[in-house]
Amino acid sequence: MIVDPAHPLWTKISRLPKVELHRHLEGSLRLETLFEIARTYDLDLPSDDPETLRPYVQVMKGDSPDFIAYLEKFKWLRRFYVSPELIARIVSECIADAAADNVKYLELRFNPVALSRLRGFALEQVVLWVAEAAERAQRDHNIKVRLILQIGRDESIATARRIAEIAVAAHSNGVVGLDLAGDELAYPATPFTEIFRWAQKKGLHITIHAGEVGPAANVREAVERIGAERIGHGIRAVEDPALVSLLAEQGITLEMCPTSNLHTGAIATLSDYPLRHYLEQDVRVTINTDDPGISNTSLTDEYMLAVQHMGIELQMLHQTILHAAAGAFLPESERHELITWFEEVLVPL
Ligand SMILES: [Zn+2]
Repeated sequence: MIVDPAHPLWTKISRLPKVELHRHLEGSLRLETLFEIARTYDLDLPSDDPETLRPYVQVMKGDSPDFIAYLEKFKWLRRFYVSPELIARIVSECIADAAADNVKYLELRFNPVALSRLRGFALEQVVLWVAEAAERAQRDHNIKVRLILQIGRDESIATARRIAEIAVAAHSNGVVGLDLAGDELAYPATPFTEIFRWAQKKGLHITIHAGEVGPAANVREAVERIGAERIGHGIRAVEDPALVSLLAEQGITLEMCPTSNLHTGAIATLSDYPLRHYLEQDVRVTINTDDPGISNTSLTDEYMLAVQHMGIELQMLHQTILHAAAGAFLPESERHELITWFEEVLVPL
């Protein structure tokens, strides 16, 4: 954690009711759970000693920022989905952790291929296990949760289509969106256009990781060609002022994740972070964790970084929370309810 919880603002921000739109299930494993699984099962890991294992799954102090090294950690984290029970436990713990951080509405995303590959589970089955566990956990922890299925950019078109079909079929199980993630420098988004357009026609919402380490053109492509309503990160959109205006005009939500962006090298320092600039340009920006397990962070920590390093005042934080509520992949009436609830509770704070 790079934020000091003893800071006088930490408690206040921790108590703020929050919305999170961008959190990966695979990047949210509790390390204690992961070490317990490593000790119990024969998982072909470099070690089952927690401290030896930790650098494989978490960014360590002193690590050089590196996008590919960051993505590599997901490869190790794919080895922990050993059984339906453990998948349910990991989902439940992830949601409990968000709720403990006062997240009131969470959109949790995962790649069903990542969860099924180790034991050869059927993709549909894995999605149902996650949906059932999420349904239970949201009731137990007083938090509303919806799910986004993720397609890896390195996946084949056939697999991507399969994931999109499963996502559409699981709409009534709480799956509300489709995401494209992974290495945007090596794998363009264009080949997936038809699949995303099809899913959108079938009622799913679209978010795409773009402009994280790739150029502003990737953000434009995601919005104009593929129909993304939200963009994961979008930091480099700042390089194209006309694009920034377009994002503002179209009400595109940017899901920004500061610590993750430091860890991947997407930005050099937090003082360069364009969050405040986007706010001033009326872009709908939101703050998220991305991968609380890998980055050892929480949403409170991310808000604190915005206050301490990006010139974000408390009132602006409220604005980002309202932006997130407005960007929720919910039906119009539910989204309106969410926004109204946050407007009421944030005013007196
Ligand atoms: Zn992400």
